[in-house]
Amino acid sequence: MDFKMLCVQAVLGLTPYQPGKPVEELARELGLDAEKIVKLASNENPLGPSPRALAAMERALPDCARYPDGSGFSLKRALAGKLGVKPEQITLGNGSNDVLDLIARTFLGPDRSAVFSEHAFAVYPISVQSVGAESRVAKAHDGSRGPSYGHDLGAMLGQVADDTTVVFIANPNNPTGTYVTTKALGDFLEALPPQVLAVVDEAYFEYVDTEDYPDSLQWLDRFPNLIVTRTFSKAYGLAGLRVGYAVSHPDVAELLNRVRQPFNVNALALAAAEAALGDEAYLQRSRRLNREGLAFLQSALQARRLECIPSVGNFITVDVGREAGPVFEGLLRQGVIVRPVANYGMPRHLRVSVGTAEENTVFIQALDKVLGC
Ligand SMILES: *Cc1c(COP(=O)(O)O)cnc(C)c1O
Repeated sequence: MDFKMLCVQAVLGLTPYQPGKPVEELARELGLDAEKIVKLASNENPLGPSPRALAAMERALPDCARYPDGSGFSLKRALAGKLGVKPEQITLGNGSNDVLDLIARTFLGPDRSAVFSEHAFAVYPISVQSVGAESRVAKAHDGSRGPSYGHDLGAMLGQVADDTTVVFIANPNNPTGTYVTTKALGDFLEALPPQVLAVVDEAYFEYVDTEDYPDSLQWLDRFPNLIVTRTFSKAYGLAGLRVGYAVSHPDVAELLNRVRQPFNVNALALAAAEAALGDEAYLQRSRRLNREGLAFLQSALQARRLECIPSVGNFITVDVGREAGPVFEGLLRQGVIVRPVANYGMPRHLRVSVGTAEENTVFIQALDKVLGC
């Protein structure tokens, strides 16, 4: 039996998501201690989790024979309070990727299409095509009217067809680190037909401190077709637990919650996320470490005449001036894991997450060895 014959057409067009190489795997391959490996490949928080999140998980652990609270009441109440929205506007997910999947399963399907940008987050085509919908990919900016590789919202609007029900905007985008401004996004939402949902993916929201970067939540009252997604995986340091959420019109949330599996967020994740949300000092430490690390990496790479895409996230994507695959492999042999992005149509770039000051230095030293500087 050739199971590809059974498979829906759109899925045949997908390639599996390539995650960052796990530390343990490289340690085994190199015969090294895992502690010697520096992983800057998945935009994780180099501080580790908030101590408050760890303590909350310890308190929740003895109860793990019970199902979690499927409504996520307590976390939603805390989020609503913090964000100034109503709990009925929030949909919790097993990571925000789960929320993106819920959106696709609720609003997409055969005979429908979704729009996103070239070089955009790789999860969008997976969610779209796995439900049989079509991906309509808009060209990214070429540098003449917006940041190179960044979303061109005009081009994205141009891709909206009669059968389009969802547009995905990553702000900032991964792997480019580029963002769309308050003005540009506001104009886009104004021009988008009201029957098309705009999903603004703000996975790195807490890291951005650029003045013309929008907080999309402010627009929810004005644009009922807006869905904002955020996550605890990045600045909140809980990537391994898988918690994310959408904020939307309550009617949209009610539909998403029909599709959501009843216990999609586990009990430890619910407890840890709520505790992390209350740890403002941890968040500030994370932001400061990232600001300093990003500036260090940017200037170190520029000093080596390597062009970086200006980033507002917790990672930087750099043109290594040659095919990036062998540079990635060379870095692995030095015990440093970064992320090749050829699958995003960027074969000469590597994406490097901002680590601790020490990790960033180890990366630059390893890069010098590999590039033969
Ligand atoms: C990391 C990331 C996410 C978050 O994924 P989770 O499932 O919440 O871990 C979402 N969108 C983008 C663009 C990302 O880079």
